Order: sequence, then C-alpha cells, then structure tokens
Amino acid sequence: MKECSIEFFPPKNAAGEARLRETIEGLLPLKPSFASVTFGAGGSTRERTFDTVRMISQDYPLEAVPHLSCIASTREGIREILENYRAQGIGRIVALRGDLLPGMDTPGEFRHANELVAFIKDFGGFEIHVAAYPEMHPESPEPVIDLENFIRKTRAGADVAITQYFYNNNAYYQFVEDLRRRDVDIPVVAGVMPIASYEQIARFSKLCGAEIPRFIHVRMEAYADDPASQRAFGIEVVTRQCEDLLRQGAPGLHFYTLNQAEPTATIWRNLGLG
Ligand code: FAD
Repeated sequence: MKECSIEFFPPKNAAGEARLRETIEGLLPLKPSFASVTFGAGGSTRERTFDTVRMISQDYPLEAVPHLSCIASTREGIREILENYRAQGIGRIVALRGDLLPGMDTPGEFRHANELVAFIKDFGGFEIHVAAYPEMHPESPEPVIDLENFIRKTRAGADVAITQYFYNNNAYYQFVEDLRRRDVDIPVVAGVMPIASYEQIARFSKLCGAEIPRFIHVRMEAYADDPASQRAFGIEVVTRQCEDLLRQGAPGLHFYTLNQAEPTATIWRNLGLG
C-alpha cells in the first residue's frame, strides 16, 4: 500500500479554521496516511501551527505531522517544541531549514536542515521527514552540490524524503536514480501540487524553482477566460502525472492541498486511492 498524505497550512482566523475543518472532512473518507501542517518562515506561525496540529489530533481520526523549520531558532527553543510534541504523542516531524522573511536577518543556531535532523535524531522518538528538490533547490549553484547537501540530511538520520512539487516526472526519476547510485535508499515520496488556480501555481513556481512544462503553460493561457476548462485540464494533467509516478514505483504521494479538498479529492478518486 502506497502512503498518500496531505498538507495544510495553519489558518489565520476563525473563518479559515472553519474552511480547514470542511476540507479535512472532505478528505477524511480518502483515508490519508497523515496530514502535515506547515510552519511559517522564521517561526511566524509557531502558535498557529501548534493549534492546528492539536486540533487535527484531537478532533479527527487523522495523524497530524508538524513541520518544523530551524532558521532563526535556538537549540533551546527547538528542544521546547520537541518536548511539547512528544507530550502530545506526535510521532513524525517534517524537519526543514525554512526561509527568513524579509527584514529577518538572524540565521540563529542552525544553519541547515541537516543540523536540525541531527538534533531531532539525538532528541529521539520521531520519524524524521525532510525536503528534497528533484529540480534543485533554488539557492543551489548546481545539482550535484544540492544532491550532496540532501545526502547530508540522510546521513544525519532522515527517514523519509518528501519532494518539492514538480510536473516533470523525469526530474524525480533522475533524482531517485542519483540517490540509489550513491547507496542512499530512503523512500522519496513525490510532492504533488494539484492545479486549483493556474495563476497561483505559476507564481509559486517562480519562487520555488518548479518548472511548468510548456504544454501546460500554453493550454492554461489559452483557457485564461475559462476557469472550468482550466480546472478540468489541471485535474487531467495531475492525475496522469500521479498514475505514472505510482506505476514507476514512487513509494507514496504527498498532496499540497492549499487547504482545499478539491481538486485533491478528485485526483485521488481518479487514481482509485482511498
Ligand atoms: P536545506 O536542506 O538546509 O537546504 C537549503 C539550501 O542549503 C540548499 O540549497 C542546499 O543545497 C544547501 N545546503 C543544505 N545543507 C547544507 C550544508 N550543510 N552546507 C552548505 N549548504 C547546504 N518552508 C517553510 O517555511 N515552512 C514549511 O512548513 C515548509 N515545508 C516544506 C515542506 C516540503 C516537503 C518542502 C519540499 C519544502 C518546505 N518548505 C517549507 C520550504 C523550505 O523551507 C525551503 O525550500 C528552504 O529554502 C529550504 O529548506 P530545506 O529544509 O530544504 O533546507
């Protein structure tokens, strides 16, 4: 059975929480293996991430997996968060470096995610998930250096990788192959970004370095005044992408839901998952 998981961001207010609850209720019948909750840049959503993790764990039959980023943090601060999660019975964590928000200039006591992974490993008791970039992290000078930096996280104790989203499956296959050639055999779960709003995805993709293939771009542009056709094409493309990933042996899929049940639910149903 492939592990298929979902990701949420912590809502900003009561209306956002109500929408998130509807989304969770829409996705629960699909039986996701867990729901991860993001942690805003430089700890900017710290309390809201805690609250969302608690809400999911207490109110739903769904495992909550917090993201934790270390930039701008102290060891003591991270230890306190881990103690809090341990007391709540949290079993896995997505360990990240994170990014600084504009105006924040303190890197803190951890420079890279491998240092956070080592710290969590030493603390003990959590399965550690880390980020991977089949199309290379945008700050990296070249793919081989980025791959070596990714491998530092596995050597520090990462158990599972979740990738940045991508639409070129060959980038994922190449990344996994490069790892296997270096005898790194942790599962690499494919991050999947359903296309709810093409404009939004195009904006994100510029920031995170995920390439949008030309055939998607030109079709989406052609449907610019026809949101129903954009949505239908987005579902079709991402369903085919996921079918190919599963057929070629991806150990699981992690859906960036952007707190919307659709189109993730439609793609899962198309795939016959859940
Ligand atoms: P790292 O693994 O530290 O890598 C960052 C850069 O540093 C890379 O270019 C890498 O090649 C280089 N590097 C790594 N280690 C070393 C080293 N030891 N020496 C020199 N160079 C090194 N962001 C958030 O703010 N909150 C979230 O909740 C969040 N969740 C995410 C979930 C997933 C699955 C993914 C893929 C990304 C997520 N991000 C999140 C984004 C992430 O924080 C950014 O991409 C960030 O820029 C890098 O984080 P990282 O953990 O990959 O860092």
